[in-house]
Amino acid sequence: MVTSNFQGLGLTRQRTVVLRVIRDANEHLTANEVFGKAKELLPSISFATVYNSLRYLKEAGHIAEIQFGNGASRYDRMTHRHDHAICTSCGKLVDIEMEPPADIIKKAAKQSKFKPESIEFTLRGLCPDCVSTN
Ligand SMILES: [Zn+2]
Ligand SMILES: [Zn+2]
Repeated sequence: MVTSNFQGLGLTRQRTVVLRVIRDANEHLTANEVFGKAKELLPSISFATVYNSLRYLKEAGHIAEIQFGNGASRYDRMTHRHDHAICTSCGKLVDIEMEPPADIIKKAAKQSKFKPESIEFTLRGLCPDCVSTN
């Protein structure tokens, strides 16, 4: 059940299952959704274990956590810098790969007087499903 490419990471069985759920998902799951899918693979797993595993995997750099406004945290298998598009109707969240324009970073750094490390963009609008049903 556990695929071989996770061996060598030194993860417990529970953490391996949680990581697998996130890597196999085509979407950005909430902790609750991860729990639901993890239970299919490992029925004895508890929500607390899933939650602790998520925290551990995030700190170890295997997954990323993203938060938008007051919504629940979602977990992302892509840990490198990337952007997101979020549907204002159904909340669907998809990845976008863009090179951030250097002049925007410069402007933002100048206004905030921050020394910039990274910048993220969120495109808000209607996803294709919501466009076609409206
Ligand atoms: Zn939508
Ligand atoms: Zn993402």
